[in-house]
Amino acid sequence: MAESTYDLVVIGGGPGGYVAAIRAAQLGMKVACAEKRGSLGGTCLNVGCIPSKALLQSSHHYATARHELAAHGVKAQVELDLAAMMARKNKVVADLTKGVEFLFKKNKVDYLVGAATILAPGRVQVTGNDGKAREHACTNILIATGSDVAGLPGIAIDEEAIVSSTGALALKAVPQTMAVIGGGVIGLELGSVWSRLGAKVTVIEYMDAILPGMDSEVSKTMQRILKKQGIDFHLSSKVTAAEKTGSGVRLSFEPVKGGEAKALEAEIVLLAVGRRPYTDGLGLENVGVAMTDRGFVKVDEHYRTSVDGIYAIGDVIGGLMLAHKAEEEGIAAVERIAGQAGHVNYEAIPGVVYTWPEVAAAGRTEEQLKKDGIAYKAGKFPFTANSRARCNADTDGFVKILADAASDRILGVHIVGPEAGDLIQELVVAMEFGASAEDVARSSHGHPGLAEAIKEAALGVAGRAIHI
Ligand code: FAD
Ligand code: NAD
Repeated sequence: MAESTYDLVVIGGGPGGYVAAIRAAQLGMKVACAEKRGSLGGTCLNVGCIPSKALLQSSHHYATARHELAAHGVKAQVELDLAAMMARKNKVVADLTKGVEFLFKKNKVDYLVGAATILAPGRVQVTGNDGKAREHACTNILIATGSDVAGLPGIAIDEEAIVSSTGALALKAVPQTMAVIGGGVIGLELGSVWSRLGAKVTVIEYMDAILPGMDSEVSKTMQRILKKQGIDFHLSSKVTAAEKTGSGVRLSFEPVKGGEAKALEAEIVLLAVGRRPYTDGLGLENVGVAMTDRGFVKVDEHYRTSVDGIYAIGDVIGGLMLAHKAEEEGIAAVERIAGQAGHVNYEAIPGVVYTWPEVAAAGRTEEQLKKDGIAYKAGKFPFTANSRARCNADTDGFVKILADAASDRILGVHIVGPEAGDLIQELVVAMEFGASAEDVARSSHGHPGLAEAIKEAALGVAGRAIHI
């Protein structure tokens, strides 16, 4: 017998699920959100975006104090207190996850603590930590169960010597050496954290560039900058074995195209080769929800699965695995359920890598435009020529704007630089409004400001940058 009846039951309390639940409640639905982790916020708040950014900020302060303050005439003796750094990170996470619980109460969203299984369309069973199963009836179900770490055959994660991102966010001591398998976002962000704190970090990447899929100028620039910061790279290389030794792990790797095998000893190995959709225990097979070949839940453009009344959003449906993408999809899906016209513009979703300098991109890369045969103009401006970057002594990187050759509409933006993740936002809004590069170039930008590099890159599209 159903214990309660809802208009919508959301399964998963991550950024996709909890935001969807709140939006549905705003739209007048009676909503519940089931989450089995024991705290709300999903991967992002608990073991993803938030703890990683807390450690990136703390380690950035440490590295700046050690290596850069002297140039500003500030003398300081710097000592690392890793336990305090970790405690601060844990508090940031705890406060934010509690904040989501508060938002649920405020919006009258019922928080169902436990693992949900779909018994049938309109019937969800939630098994709580007390082992008791409770059934809930509902008109609609939204699957927002996210993703989990992807493994690599032969490399067993023990979260001690061979760690996933979760283990790398909670190391008890700074390792002398760290090998990172995968030069993607997690590899570079968490590799940066431990490199700044003193570890010798080596990244082994399968593809011929780090951050594959990003504009190649961005990948090359970041590799050069991170190398300068002390991180070593082996590209076009695949790890073939990991063997635990008394003092750490011995990795064997070889060129992807064949060739001589090499070995690398490291105290800690971080496996960061991507994430897989997470649908374990959800009971999708009971109701016949169609899946893709790669295990993602298949949806149409309105986030409907193959079964009436069951929708899915976020990491579990694939595409960019980003918290804000999951949020936008959650909002669009419940607005659709409510009969409104929610939609997501996938052309204007920023991707940010929180290294230092940061990387931020939206829209298409030069490689994609060339492949698609779209004629474009590029405007590029380096931070070395930006006065605020000079004042801050943060001059690595550039802004690149790609605009349609005929209409001048902005098609892609790529930034490597200080605060790139925040700077890109004006260009994302511009893209959302279908702006031209000239629209941005003619907007007044405060001086001296990092954002003036954006104005100059926009001017550069028309070949009329002023300060270079
Ligand atoms: P998730 O956040 O994965 O949430 C799904 C939730 O569903 C989980 O809490 C899970 O416990 C729950 N669940 C699963 N099955 C059930 C069930 N049967 N019953 C009940 N509950 C269930 N993205 C960014 O945009 N910016 C970043 O800076 C960023 N940093 C990251 C750093 C790291 C180390 C990692 C790992 C990821 C990072 N991401 C970042 C990616 C981001 O975390 C994900 O894209 C985002 O969390 C996806 O949201 P979601 O709601 O789809 O799923
Ligand atoms: P990723 O896809 O960003 O990077 C994985 C990397 O591993 C790729 O470069 C890939 O070529 C490489 N790789 C794959 N197989 C390999 C192998 N056998 N040997 C060596 N290299 C191999 O995935 P990730 O870094 O694990 O991150 C997972 C997800 O989390 C991503 O989708 C990302 O968007 C998200 N995330 C986002 C942020 C952010 O927005 N700042 C931060 C962290 C994670």
